[in-house]
Amino acid sequence: MSASRPEPSIEASGPLESIGAALFHPLGVEGVYARTALYEELLEKLSALISRERDPAAEVLRFPPVMSRRELEKSGYLKSFPNLLGCVCALHGTEGEIRAAAEAYESGGDWTRSLGASDLVLSPAACYPVYPLAARRGPLPPGGWMFDVAAECFRKEPSRELSRLQSFRMREFVRIGAPAEVAAFRDQWMGRAERLAGELGLPAKLDAASDPFFGRVGQVMAVSQRQQSLKFELLIPYRPEAVPTACMSFNCHRDHFGLAWGLADAAGEVAHTACVAFGMDRLAVALFCIHGLEVPRWPSSVRRRLGL
Ligand code: AMP
Ligand code: ZN
Repeated sequence: MSASRPEPSIEASGPLESIGAALFHPLGVEGVYARTALYEELLEKLSALISRERDPAAEVLRFPPVMSRRELEKSGYLKSFPNLLGCVCALHGTEGEIRAAAEAYESGGDWTRSLGASDLVLSPAACYPVYPLAARRGPLPPGGWMFDVAAECFRKEPSRELSRLQSFRMREFVRIGAPAEVAAFRDQWMGRAERLAGELGLPAKLDAASDPFFGRVGQVMAVSQRQQSLKFELLIPYRPEAVPTACMSFNCHRDHFGLAWGLADAAGEVAHTACVAFGMDRLAVALFCIHGLEVPRWPSSVRRRLGL
């Protein structure tokens, strides 16, 4: 990094500055950080706690940070959030073409002009790969499917706020089944999440929400999503008086993924889907902001619940 360019700092002038410095190290790009041992150890405890809360029937799958571009396109992502998507690009062509592009960098040119899209995108949420995966298995078994998935996710939303990262970890419980089964799953998890937050000493509140759909058409989609109560969030203020941060979301997709992927039961009824997302980094940061950096001094009930 050149001496004239300052390193991006985390909430440089904000009240959370010292917390950020203990949890993250800058890597030269906003919202992308190296994580300290203090932070990772808590994240592991939090992950283990969520695993203990998992339904025994859930199938565990861990996804890489990339997924099939075709599958994300077919899921309708470009209609909703094209502004947030990151696509993996690479140099294609002959050895000569690739060498010429790489040498453009050495001679001060723009080597990135030669990049072309690959068949991969960076996963914008952990659950997208699970619907086509389930569809490839054929008709749903009686009772449908339940999954526990996780991935490192990317969204192009650079920010200096501790709560808004470009690369962050998402854990999700996903339900695929009959409409009533799916609705019951989501409602049950809203209650469980509120209880869990209370046990962790987090001042959380559930509220109806909408996704940040792109553009003017997106605003209409957001209103309709809210009117139909399709999305709720668990909101936690990082400090008293602060605007609360959405640390979990509870999403009902109705038949969106069922139709996109041909997910149906043995009788041919289109499946509904829902997901419960844990924003792992937002939850971990919330715990540090609320209880402080000295984990041994956290309330004993919180420490016990986390197995600390
Ligand atoms: P969403 O699909 O937008 O509901 O995201 C699921 C969860 O991921 C949210 O409830 C957040 O906790 C977390 N999340 C979303 N965007 C970010 C971000 N930019 N940085 C960190 N966590 C995020
Ligand atoms: Zn999801």
